[in-house]
Amino acid sequence: MHAAGAAYRQNEAVPYYRDEGVVLRTQKLGEADRIITLLTREHGRVRAVAKGVRRTTSRFGARLEPFSHVDLQFAEARTLDVITQAETLRPYAARMGADYGAYTAGTVMLETAERLVTEDGEPAVQQYLLLVGALRAVCEAGRPAPQVLDAFLLRSLAVNGYAPSFDACARCGVEGPHVAFNPSAGGMLCAGCRLPGSARPAEETVSVLAALLSGDWDVVTAAEERHLREASTLVAAYLAWHLERGLRSLSHVQR
Ligand SMILES: [Zn+2]
Repeated sequence: MHAAGAAYRQNEAVPYYRDEGVVLRTQKLGEADRIITLLTREHGRVRAVAKGVRRTTSRFGARLEPFSHVDLQFAEARTLDVITQAETLRPYAARMGADYGAYTAGTVMLETAERLVTEDGEPAVQQYLLLVGALRAVCEAGRPAPQVLDAFLLRSLAVNGYAPSFDACARCGVEGPHVAFNPSAGGMLCAGCRLPGSARPAEETVSVLAALLSGDWDVVTAAEERHLREASTLVAAYLAWHLERGLRSLSHVQR
């Protein structure tokens, strides 16, 4: 993964690299360290060690909490790279932590991003931009966290090759509107393709789903609560189908 790291010799300068990223998760390591899992702009998912960050004297421990958007310097190492500098770009950890609804929705975003980016060190720029955009939408644009989450989940699945279809039939492609929704089939189904057990969402709910996917916030903002809720249920079903098992954190989201 780190080509430059292969050439380690004594007295050779340690290779450093910089990137920006969002902290997805932290785990304790030893007495005072943490392993920080990040989604970075250039290097995709990165797991790196932050040394001494659990000591109260740590210079950057507080900057490496989940949701933190940080600029980082890493030192390459044989196993896990080491974080040597961390500067806060946006204080999303504090803002997400101050609002329970935002926090629970945001936790699903972090977990989904970690699950969908399966290879450490492989760039996942679209997924990274979706995550930063969603945090910005909640923390800066003040958009409702449950709908930002639903839009994030649909778009995340789309950039990973599981784009749902809310207009044309997901199986045969005939133009909609259609009345049946089936996660396993990839979205809406026409009368001829309809599978047993398909949901029959309200027409307005299908419009909300399409608007969440395309980012048409005028439609989302104008929607009735019951249609937003029904859309959330279908997004959760779609996500669950496409991830091997459901996300633990999703059950905590207030919808
Ligand atoms: Zn069809």
